[in-house]
Amino acid sequence: MPARTQQEIVDRLRHARASGEDRFAEQEAILLPALDFDHARPFLRATARRDRWRQQHDHESRARAYLVLAISEIINHRAPQARRAVVALVELAWLLGRDDIVTAMNTASYARFGAPKVKAFTDGLGWRFAGTVEDPESRHTLIRMARGQQCHPDGCRRGCAD
Ligand SMILES: [Zn+2]
Repeated sequence: MPARTQQEIVDRLRHARASGEDRFAEQEAILLPALDFDHARPFLRATARRDRWRQQHDHESRARAYLVLAISEIINHRAPQARRAVVALVELAWLLGRDDIVTAMNTASYARFGAPKVKAFTDGLGWRFAGTVEDPESRHTLIRMARGQQCHPDGCRRGCAD
């Protein structure tokens, strides 16, 4: 049984569109493919074809891919990309039925390109966070940023200064 019904996903997608919060359609990019063609239809162009539609069922694999992306963007201080990846992870946590993680991520600070939010995501799922990063220096960077600290003990010249 999927954690969310098709109707629940439709409702969340409608809300995202109506609220104007999903300006860059990041929520939509996660939620829309979770629908079957009939539920997705009202959100698609008139030319959309049933035989071309690929519904996504494996939200956990998508979450793991977005997690790798989010961590990379955070370490590299790419603010818009990191923000998009964090939004995607919130939606994937929701699709997985984890309201507790959605709340934890929304409560966590957005400091340091969302590093504390991504840590809330991995903590909630019991997944590895910094342990996924091989390079020791990058790993320390990520751990510091998730604590809300600057990326380097001597300070940051790349944009995470207070
Ligand atoms: Zn920095």
